Amino acid sequence: MQSDAMESPARDRLAVHTITTKPWGLAEAADRYAASGVSGMSVWVEAIEGMKNADVHSTLQNAGIQVPALVRGGFFCDSSADERERRIDHNRRLIETAAEISAEMLVLVVGATPGEPLERQRGWVRDGIEALIEDANSHNVRLAIEPLHPMYAADKSCINRMADARVLCEAVRNPMLGIAVDVYHTWWDPDLDDEIRRAGLLDALFAFHICDWRVPTRDLLTDRGLMGDGCIDIRGIRQMVEAAGFSGWNEVEIFSEEHWARDQQQFLNDIITRYADC
Ligand code: ZN
Repeated sequence: MQSDAMESPARDRLAVHTITTKPWGLAEAADRYAASGVSGMSVWVEAIEGMKNADVHSTLQNAGIQVPALVRGGFFCDSSADERERRIDHNRRLIETAAEISAEMLVLVVGATPGEPLERQRGWVRDGIEALIEDANSHNVRLAIEPLHPMYAADKSCINRMADARVLCEAVRNPMLGIAVDVYHTWWDPDLDDEIRRAGLLDALFAFHICDWRVPTRDLLTDRGLMGDGCIDIRGIRQMVEAAGFSGWNEVEIFSEEHWARDQQQFLNDIITRYADC
């Protein structure tokens, strides 16, 4: 096994998203992560499809794995009010799932639908979150709004800048609501440093997701890079969130056809090495 880098105390805060090692099922991922010294796993809904929440919980517990987040809920935006109501109900079930697998938070990709003004859609997002906040509170599951890069504004997220997420947090004003800062989605933002500081003042920095932006990017969804293989100043952004008071998990979230095609244990070893460098 690896040596000094593996014993680094910083690795206490390393978590990996199940989507990162998609070819592994939940149990194998839990065992492999634990054996490699990675104690955090953010669980994608797709990774537990068809499993009972109690079985998910015991699988993770037995491996000694903690769960920063269930990923992902949200998708509040639809022109039909009935459909928006259905989606809020779906999120209620996701909050229950998060509680049952001992996830600290539910990540919200807030959604977007083509043809509606983004400002109106952000109102739907606020309505959705306000409808869920009591559920979040009673289940002790925090809600983390994840701003997505503007290339996804048409159909995945009407919240694209940290400022949009921060304004929503200020409007709802609830300690259960905060922000997931993903370097892939936010690195380009000229206001990033200031917005991270403002989110910190609101106690709203809930999560920090890392990967890298490949140049060129060959696919807008499934070509994320391993830390160090792209242009993002990950270390600089990490210093910003830490200066703003964040002390939670560093979550590695990489969707990559290239890396999924590799030996996943080798990939995990590379993640651990690169994490130590950033
Ligand atoms: Zn993310």
